[in-house]
Amino acid sequence: MGFKQLVFSGVQPTGNLHLGNYLGAIVKFVALQERYDCIYCVVDLHAITVWQDPAELRRNIREVTAAFIACGIDPKRHIVFNQSQVAEHAELAWVFNCVARLGWLNRMTQFKEKAGKDRENASIGLYDYPVLMAADILVYRATHVPVGEDQKQHLELSRDIAQKFNNDYAESIAARGFGDAFFPLPEPLIQGPATRVMSLRDGTKKMSKSDPSDYSRINLSDDAEAIAQKVRKAKTDPEPLPSEEKGLENRPEADNLVGIYAALADQGKSAVLAEFGGGQFSTFKTALVDLAVAKLSPITTEMKRIVADAAYIDAVLADGSARAQKIAAETMGPVKDIVGLIRR
Ligand code: ATP
Ligand code: MG
Repeated sequence: MGFKQLVFSGVQPTGNLHLGNYLGAIVKFVALQERYDCIYCVVDLHAITVWQDPAELRRNIREVTAAFIACGIDPKRHIVFNQSQVAEHAELAWVFNCVARLGWLNRMTQFKEKAGKDRENASIGLYDYPVLMAADILVYRATHVPVGEDQKQHLELSRDIAQKFNNDYAESIAARGFGDAFFPLPEPLIQGPATRVMSLRDGTKKMSKSDPSDYSRINLSDDAEAIAQKVRKAKTDPEPLPSEEKGLENRPEADNLVGIYAALADQGKSAVLAEFGGGQFSTFKTALVDLAVAKLSPITTEMKRIVADAAYIDAVLADGSARAQKIAAETMGPVKDIVGLIRR
């Protein structure tokens, strides 16, 4: 059965948006607007799977919304909203909790990383995070999901849940006139030069909002001075830059900085190395600072302007939520019928 093509993705309001979120996700969100209908969600229910100070959470929800708009997402032509305003996400997540298997969730590496050693003390929400993510996508029956490399495993789980729902309820789905599949199997869109931007302090760890060290990341809200300091302090190795891409193997920090430059300049890594190969890191870092400041400062300025107008942001979220909810309800009603629940 054919499904209408639709893009869905989300970002957690867990702190400062960084270069990894920007290059790995938001740049793609912006580009996809030309070819698809898009729904972009500030996933606040995901954020509270780890402790969030209430006042800070509110501020972060507005800040991520402002960042979306400042980066070029058009909330009028597409949909921008926060997850908790559309109750169907949580409702469908419960149905999916009864479809997903414990064994599937036990394989999720993000939970293992985020729960750390003290797993007994992690919230049940953190464990269940990927099931809510499946509901986020499938409540719109979205077909395409732009994400960074770190979300690949969760996307595969979403496909498994959609598939199992379609199989388990096949007869009921057909009887209700939905053919042989009620949910599409959503496709991850993980492409481009910066699908996994690494920490500036440790080239083997991904750049994250929740990393306690602010020096590990470049935030979209950082000014030129902060960017310069962080890049200057970024970990490197003692060798000069190689002239060819192969020379970046086993040099995670060098590979990461070159990758960031390439993504910001919209070039390949080999083109960057053709220019900077053989030179010292200090020269390259200076060029990287200039490039990052040139690319990010217009966004930072625009974000500041938008964030100052909380009433505008809240209106965008209210309007987006109302439009999102209409679509979500068109999925949730039939899901109840298919499962055998009685509704008004
Ligand atoms: P947290 O540490 O709270 O999980 P995060 O930095 O991982 O925050 P998310 O809100 O979880 O950010 O992810 C938002 C989007 O950004 C997702 O599509 C994710 O795949 C992408 N993303 C996150 N970190 C990176 C990164 N380092 N490189 C590329 N993409 C990333
Ligand atoms: Mg994350």
